[in-house]
Amino acid sequence: MAQIKAPRGTQDMLPKDAHKWEEIETVLLSLAKNYGFVQIRTPVFENTQLFERGVGDTTDVVQKEMYTFEDKGGRSITLRPEGTAGAVRAAVEHGLLNDALPLKLSYLTSCYRYEKPQAGRLREFHQFGVECLGTREPIADAQLILFARRLFDCFGLDDIRLELNSIGCPECRKHYHAALREYFSAHTDTLCDTCKGRLEKNPMRILDCKSPTCREIAANAPSILDYLCEDCRTHFEKVKEYLDLNDILFTVNPRIVRGLDYYTKTVFEFVCDDIGAQGTVLGGGRYDGLVEELGGKPLPALGFAMGLERLLLLLESRGYAFVQSARPDIYFCNIGDNALKIALSFCDEFGLDGYYAGLDLMGRGLKAQMKYANKIGARFTVVIGDDDIEAGVLNIKDMQTGEVYQSDFASFVETAENLLLQSTIEESLGVENNE
Ligand code: ATP
Ligand code: MG
Repeated sequence: MAQIKAPRGTQDMLPKDAHKWEEIETVLLSLAKNYGFVQIRTPVFENTQLFERGVGDTTDVVQKEMYTFEDKGGRSITLRPEGTAGAVRAAVEHGLLNDALPLKLSYLTSCYRYEKPQAGRLREFHQFGVECLGTREPIADAQLILFARRLFDCFGLDDIRLELNSIGCPECRKHYHAALREYFSAHTDTLCDTCKGRLEKNPMRILDCKSPTCREIAANAPSILDYLCEDCRTHFEKVKEYLDLNDILFTVNPRIVRGLDYYTKTVFEFVCDDIGAQGTVLGGGRYDGLVEELGGKPLPALGFAMGLERLLLLLESRGYAFVQSARPDIYFCNIGDNALKIALSFCDEFGLDGYYAGLDLMGRGLKAQMKYANKIGARFTVVIGDDDIEAGVLNIKDMQTGEVYQSDFASFVETAENLLLQSTIEESLGVENNE
């Protein structure tokens, strides 16, 4: 029968990469916890309206990229293109914003966008995101950015550029929009069709357009920084001051507007040059209008999202040393059914004690079992035959040194676990000594 392939723009996570994903996810979620973020999980699909309102109907995401379909009950449903709208929807729906604020949420989710697949750009991808809801204070912006920087530091990526901007509030944007309309209306013929439509509705979107001609025109457009109101200007100054105080380097890039319509004030991106055109690994900012837009009370908020496929590409391009995938601590090679039964129950005991013990599940002969144990890198092996059972003694072989240790059945698990502990300690000391 013809083979069925995965849909275009999707990627399977294969066993050979599992340990990389596990490490990435563990590092991100545990650091998030240290910074006070608590996990939230929301549905893969939402009512389409959520994203039309929560992402904005003049954005590329909503205009071009959503996976929208009608379900069997005739509802318009969309696969989530990003994580913020769902998280804020859930916070409002469950009254989480009535508790003491701020509400700090984190998530690790798959996202779906109908885009042209290329390196670092997929149709199904994954985001790690955090949201901090309920605070208008610039210190929150600074701490969020500091946290993002620390995430990169954790992976040794301390040279990823931070680009920062403020896109003001609806008040200062009124004047800025007018200036942009005036500027772009001199170029209406050359703007792409989508941007022609944006000119009236939301001219700032044109700054975010990927079309080369629009980009060229946008390069000389007026800068938002010249239009910030007093409040937004002070806010931005404060954020920069706090970042300076913590030695967080950044450049101000007035062209950053971000993909969502409801961003206000601070916006930022972490960008690198070594993974090709899709260099933005993390993007975020303040979205003071979103909670109200989604039916909650007017509450300021901010957050960011990091693309995990891009992070992985970056780590691989830098030769990042991932912690190796788990190899068995101990492997039982058996001769005969009695030995197999004993191995099964020992494996269970080791598993519950936190060790990975393996046994033959393939009906291999002794020689093939030993070859297999070697191949999968077992730390210790134990051969169990009828003689061993009769003698009540087992031999535990250290596969690195070749040394053999003996133990009776009753104290076997304890002896083996002590050996494992000892070898872990020696390995970690060895690593330190080699440094
Ligand atoms: P881009 O400008 O590259 O299209 P974006 O502004 O649309 O990015 P956001 O909506 O801010 O991206 O999403 C946050 C992060 O999610 C991005 O910085 C990126 O790392 C990742 N990301 C976005 N779209 C994709 C995609 N199609 N495939 C893989 N990762 C993506
Ligand atoms: Mg995009």
